[in-house]
Amino acid sequence: MKGGTFDQHFLVDAGYLDRIVAAADLDPDDVVLEIGAGVGNLTERLAQKAKKVIVIELDPALVRILHDRFDEVENIEIIAGDALKVDFPEFSKVVSNLPYSISSEITFKLLRHKFKLGILMYQYEFAARMVSQPNCKDYSRLTVDTCYFADASILMKVPKSAFQPSPEVDSAVVKLVPRPAPFEVKDQAFFMDFVAAVFSQRRKKLKNAILNTNHMLKIPSVKEVIARLPEDLMNKRAENLTPDELAHVANQIVNLKKLILAETKEQ
Ligand code: SAM
Repeated sequence: MKGGTFDQHFLVDAGYLDRIVAAADLDPDDVVLEIGAGVGNLTERLAQKAKKVIVIELDPALVRILHDRFDEVENIEIIAGDALKVDFPEFSKVVSNLPYSISSEITFKLLRHKFKLGILMYQYEFAARMVSQPNCKDYSRLTVDTCYFADASILMKVPKSAFQPSPEVDSAVVKLVPRPAPFEVKDQAFFMDFVAAVFSQRRKKLKNAILNTNHMLKIPSVKEVIARLPEDLMNKRAENLTPDELAHVANQIVNLKKLILAETKEQ
């Protein structure tokens, strides 16, 4: 929740609501999860096409409005609560105009679940970081983490005027298609920490970024590990490396940690 407002900007433009529902490509077997249903404008349209829509809404006043509006509609279930805390039900698709202050946390909570497709509205700048490419200013930890879990693309930019009240920022609808990572990751937790660490020093050469963030990474004999890693990669910067290359470096560190530990035991 931001400033006690619950991040409430309701999408009221029928054209955009219809385009979002069309992008979800719903069939009668789909169970849709909607996070932050507001007054239910998107919910109503989703329920006309899907088997079931399950909404999670935090604001008790809106939960009451949703009950008044939908209690007679058989295929809408309303869960009152914080989407960051509630256990998600099973769903095949997630379609939401998200509360922007929890964009990152909610996206990675979603991506720990199995689903076919996400059609999600974010603040435009956030969406741009999700879908960026190496060597671009928006290329970031968020880009790499997103790429690890899913294919992401921006479907449309949505102007402030499509909402009521109008937010201060533009928005974008992102299509997320979860899939196995297109590169090998030996230790997911270490890879995530590594990406967070090196992007906190995105303009430093990787060897310096690793050294400077080793309080986070806790790589034993870190200087020796760096010395054994390919020099050309160590001289590049996180912002210039593809997710694939970053995973390769993280995997090599995982291997070297084991190797150096074994060598030390032997001595
Ligand atoms: N989907 C609606 C629409 O498009 O008109 C509302 C979108 S509004 C940007 C975000 C909604 O998320 C609000 O209804 C707000 O009350 C709700 N919300 C905020 N934080 C939440 C949370 N942690 N869990 C569930 N809902 C939340």
